[in-house]
Amino acid sequence: MRRKVTGSKYQERSGPREPARFHELNKKLFIKSYGCQMNVYDTQRMTEVVEPLGYQSVDSPDDADLIILNTCHIREKAAEKVYSELGRLRQLKAQRSKVGRRLIIGVAGCVAQAEGAEMMRRAPVIDMVFGPQVYHRLPDMVRSAEAGNRNILDTDFPAEDKFDHLPKARALTGPAAFLTIQEGCDKFCTFCVVPYTRGAEYSRPADKIIAEAEALVASGAREVTLLGQNVNAYHDETAQGVVTGLADLCTRLASIDRLERIRYTTSHPRDMDDALIEAHGTLVQLMPYLHLPIQSGSDRILAAMNRQHTVEDYLSLVDRIRAARPDIALSSDFIVGFPGETEADFEATLAICKTVKYAQAYSFKYSPRPGTPGAALDDQVPEDVKSRRLAELQALIICHQSEFNESCVGRVMPVLLEKSGRLGGQMLGRSPYLQSVHVAASADLLGTIQQVRIDDVKPNSLGGSLLAPAPVVPATMAPAVASDSAAEHSKIPTLESTHQA
Ligand code: SF4
Repeated sequence: MRRKVTGSKYQERSGPREPARFHELNKKLFIKSYGCQMNVYDTQRMTEVVEPLGYQSVDSPDDADLIILNTCHIREKAAEKVYSELGRLRQLKAQRSKVGRRLIIGVAGCVAQAEGAEMMRRAPVIDMVFGPQVYHRLPDMVRSAEAGNRNILDTDFPAEDKFDHLPKARALTGPAAFLTIQEGCDKFCTFCVVPYTRGAEYSRPADKIIAEAEALVASGAREVTLLGQNVNAYHDETAQGVVTGLADLCTRLASIDRLERIRYTTSHPRDMDDALIEAHGTLVQLMPYLHLPIQSGSDRILAAMNRQHTVEDYLSLVDRIRAARPDIALSSDFIVGFPGETEADFEATLAICKTVKYAQAYSFKYSPRPGTPGAALDDQVPEDVKSRRLAELQALIICHQSEFNESCVGRVMPVLLEKSGRLGGQMLGRSPYLQSVHVAASADLLGTIQQVRIDDVKPNSLGGSLLAPAPVVPATMAPAVASDSAAEHSKIPTLESTHQA
């Protein structure tokens, strides 16, 4: 179940020895996280891992002693953006050096995994490069860097489970927490780098996930989002042959007292099994929001992408999911301009959008990722054509999103109050459909679920009023109460896909 070992613990080269400051406590750590929620989770875990070395997390690189760029390889020109950030950090490091202070710079994540030693060569400012599977080794790497070693490189896929080496207690930043349950992917969509940067599919043992969720809830979490590049491929099997799929895992999680909301992302249509669909109809803690990427509405393009399903398969799946949970809000990813995409193919993408009426969706122009089969395909679509198609698709998506938001006005729904809003006396929360909701509420309601009437639609959120402020709302996740007869599907989330695009 674990990945293969591809190298030694880590490699390093010695540099100038350094400073007393690194033996002090109260050092400052700044991690810049790019990309999806899995990187956000990894960033939180890295923070926890280096805390015992005396590093406290700060919000700015300006006074940090250790800066880590936790990179993402999904977006276009990802590596170039990292190199340009490193150029800025080079100046910061030079300024520090002038006043006799050292700054350690690390690069983590998928760009680090993909570029490896090449990063060291191109950006000598870097002290450490390490991939997503080895950040549990960060204390050793940081100690080594503090001792003056430079060019520390670790892009292994180690045999040990990194989760076994992470702190058991989780530092919680709010009542909604991420929890990685699965990593890697075996699907090999032809546009995607994930199988190469994150490796083969790996599911964490269910018991360990339950223990981590219980610890999160004990720390104040009320909502947990289960993360995986291919999260609904989750599969655990004990030595006794007890199999746990994602539906089973959600059922076990739902029995944790005070865990009131469960979400998961990102799903592949092929792995949406009957048990999981049924769970959406029976588990009140499972939120009525599902990110289910289709990428294209053309069977020809889906085949070229190696998505392993057809449009008909997908629409049949949507019907079954909506039959199980009629108010479910659907989201998707789309890629326009995949090599060979014709106007007819693109029209088919618009058509599926109109059929499903996504509450929200992410859409991107195709851009070749080095090393993926798509990058080697002929018949690349011209940039201006991709731009036009993307604009047309996004206009349609926004139209459907606005319709769904407007349909929420006047409804009453449970909102988890997650943090203070920008205005005094205002809190920001999440609806069951993952919409941001601003509401006038006192700070002592932080972390509670309140019944909120939706009053209006703002550009990126909803505005609402507390119905009857109560200190704590029981653990119930009944569907939002509709005060009108608007159709009860679609919605509006803001989670970013853990897949590619
Ligand atoms: S798009 Fe998703 S399913 Fe396809 S290879 Fe990438 S991570 Fe796997």
